[in-house]
Amino acid sequence: LKKCPDPSPLLVGPLRVEFSTPVSLDTVRKENPGLQEGGRYKPHDCVALQKVALIIPFRLRDEHLKFWLYYLHPILQRQQLDYGVYVINQDGDNTFNRAKLMNIGIAEALKEYDYDCFVFSDVDIIPMDDRNTYKCFSQPRHLSVSMDKYGFKLPYYQYFGGVSSLSKEQIMKINGFPNNYWGWGGEDDDIFNRSENV
Ligand code: BGC
Repeated sequence: LKKCPDPSPLLVGPLRVEFSTPVSLDTVRKENPGLQEGGRYKPHDCVALQKVALIIPFRLRDEHLKFWLYYLHPILQRQQLDYGVYVINQDGDNTFNRAKLMNIGIAEALKEYDYDCFVFSDVDIIPMDDRNTYKCFSQPRHLSVSMDKYGFKLPYYQYFGGVSSLSKEQIMKINGFPNNYWGWGGEDDDIFNRSENV
């Protein structure tokens, strides 16, 4: 098999994204017949350029998660990625710790497959254009740079929240993510600071 071309010829560009009708996991399954057990996929007619683990820190957001899966699976397949989706659920009702869940996601994903790239996504963010490829680059990359809730611009220059990608190598270099940010905020800024000189 040959390497998949870059960019993928399957991309369609701008997408219609809306949340008025709820979607079910059954619909997601039916509309993605190529998906393997455990939310895994790889293109069959070429070798994917990257092996990407998508890590979603999660608690009590089932409706968001269904939309995420509904929209993202077709996009990731058109991006011709060899990918797996890891929903990392924080049990109980103690204070949420997003970055720690992301660290756990890295460790768990690597037990399953030799991923070379990690994309960390909030469960409530859907790309509006599939040319925003969920893959890794020569430096850590912020992928959600134009969000509707921020008027389609960055809330501030260093903003690194929402969706970001780091290669396995980049993650090791910055010693992973901080485990000590409990509750909302700050962990993404810490990750930006760690990433700035990588
Ligand atoms: C927080 C970040 C958050 C950002 C945007 C900042 O003050 O430290 O964690 O992502 O605001 O809401």
